[in-house]
Amino acid sequence: MTLHDSPTRRRFLGSLLGAGAATAAGLAASGNGALRAVTEAVDSAAVATEPAVRTRLEAQLTFPVLVGDGLITLNNFGGRSVSTGACSHRGIDIFPTTSTTRVLVSCVDGVIEGQRFLDGSQGNAWILNDDAGVSYRYHHIDEFEPGLEVGSVVRRGDVIATMGATGNTGSAHLHFEVRPDGTGASAIDPIPLLPFPIEGVTLGAPTGCT
Ligand SMILES: [Zn+2]
Repeated sequence: MTLHDSPTRRRFLGSLLGAGAATAAGLAASGNGALRAVTEAVDSAAVATEPAVRTRLEAQLTFPVLVGDGLITLNNFGGRSVSTGACSHRGIDIFPTTSTTRVLVSCVDGVIEGQRFLDGSQGNAWILNDDAGVSYRYHHIDEFEPGLEVGSVVRRGDVIATMGATGNTGSAHLHFEVRPDGTGASAIDPIPLLPFPIEGVTLGAPTGCT
């Protein structure tokens, strides 16, 4: 099996994982032996595919903020949401250590799939997609880079915005998410996908709720 990924394969993996979860729920209710065998087959296929997908992702991401004047990355995937208080924080937060304006850069080669202007939540936001359909979200943006719009092609390291404090935050930072199938439920911890250790970037201790 090649490690090369594709939108088709990504959708297949998503349906595979979904099928595994659905049949596992059915199994608990029925205790059916035949169904158990099917479930185990589906689950083992998913387990075999997952490391390949993660390996591709781990080799891929560029740190989403231009490094230079000092940054602190909170290791808070799964931590408490500012808006709800629940343990549902779907990304990580990257803060500057000085008041210097910070520049946000594309973490992948991809396409801008969405632009948001949402007061009271994610604020100004870009949503990027790579060619495998993985979604990367940048929230609380101050200013979007002129000339970029939905449909623009970006390359890793391209400037896409400045860090800001729009939406539900009192201080400038980047809230950064990785969503393998685009949905919030699919969000995964970005930390293992970023090239730590990174000079000039302090990584905090995990602060998830578990
Ligand atoms: Zn956040």
